[in-house]
Amino acid sequence: MYDYDLLVVGSANADLVIGVERRPGAGETVLGSDLAVHPGGKGANQAVAAARLGARTALLARVGDDDHGRLLLDSQRAAGVDTAGVLAGGAPTGVALITVDPSGDNSIVVSPGANGRLTPADVRAATGLVHASEVVSAQLEIPLETVVEVVRTLAPGSRFVLNPSPPRELPREVLDACDPLIVNEHEAKVILGTSEAGEGPEDWARRLLAEGPRSVVVTLGAEGALVASAQGVARVPSVRVDAVDTTGAGDAFTAALAWRLGTGATLAEAAAYAARVGAAAVTKAGAQESYPTAREVEAL
Ligand code: ATP
Repeated sequence: MYDYDLLVVGSANADLVIGVERRPGAGETVLGSDLAVHPGGKGANQAVAAARLGARTALLARVGDDDHGRLLLDSQRAAGVDTAGVLAGGAPTGVALITVDPSGDNSIVVSPGANGRLTPADVRAATGLVHASEVVSAQLEIPLETVVEVVRTLAPGSRFVLNPSPPRELPREVLDACDPLIVNEHEAKVILGTSEAGEGPEDWARRLLAEGPRSVVVTLGAEGALVASAQGVARVPSVRVDAVDTTGAGDAFTAALAWRLGTGATLAEAAAYAARVGAAAVTKAGAQESYPTAREVEAL
């Protein structure tokens, strides 16, 4: 019996958002809206999403010993995430500086800060937490060598889920451990190298599967997702909703999928549930603020 359904190893950022009429050019200053500060980062988002659904969730991450770090810890605790594995200090909390123009387009500068200081030694020191977790999920907003150490630390029988975002080439050791590897179109293309003309999501899923993962999920936004394993490739239907803000939908999808797999759902069942969670998340503004409870998913 595991203490946690899901351990998320990943990033925690403060998202600093300013609305602008247009973005400044070099050497130029523009005035924008009031500043809005939101808890974010792919790791923190996934942990909140899973906990809101009812999963016993823990986060292994690093924040600064500063106000942004405290904001992130507060949002995790409010959602019910166990934050004993959140380390503080070493650098300022990671920050995403986001400008949004009237058409809704974002420009984002990320300062990884403390996320870049989450080391393999931090993972080794948290071996007890890793071994107490049925499913462990990671993303790539922390150093790759830290993700490699997570794979090496996994208890036999536990499950590893990776969303390789932002995407980069992955060592075979990491690819082999993924069950599943969860990618969107952009991530699939980067990991595969240039995509061949005429290829579509099913081709990417098959080619990614051949690179080592035990299973692959390709998310397709409003079109739903594809799941691929030794059993073949299957389409996961999307849920029709009026989308308000798609920020963080991928993180909600990944968290929901990882949790359901740990409860014994098949890949197709878990992905169908995750698609409902992702759809619910796009019906509200924000990332963590938009994540549904299990009851809200049922009601969808
Ligand atoms: P992110 O912007 O968070 O990085 P992503 O590109 O990783 O997202 P998406 O494919 O946009 O991930 O979304 C994840 C899942 O959420 C989709 O597979 C789908 O099931 C659901 N989803 C996303 N957008 C919509 C939408 N407009 N309508 C219905 N479902 C959606």
